Amino acid sequence: MNDILQNLVILQDLDEMISELNNDEIITQQEEMGFEINGLEKLIEAREELIKRIPLEIFNHYNRVRSRYGRAIAPVRENICLGCFIKIPTQISSREMGNQVLRNCENCGRYLYWV
Ligand SMILES: [Zn+2]
Repeated sequence: MNDILQNLVILQDLDEMISELNNDEIITQQEEMGFEINGLEKLIEAREELIKRIPLEIFNHYNRVRSRYGRAIAPVRENICLGCFIKIPTQISSREMGNQVLRNCENCGRYLYWV
């Protein structure tokens, strides 16, 4: 898999975990249940490290798409972007081929990830 794509997939997972842990309601809930909230700092540290390995323009685009749609990476099935359900006009016949290069959906701009 393309290195940058791989890093973006991890970044998206981290961002989702961080925003979940940052949610006041969930924090209160977990505290009431007796859980300690200490994972957040570690996640933010891991995110900082990861960002260093992603080119700035790609990271900026990731943020733009994320703030617009919530998720910046869309899975692809049978050459359909599952973010916007538009058929991708390429002849990609395998997951390996699709994930070799970092690609954007021409319609929604999300980064594409073949599953
Ligand atoms: Zn799309």
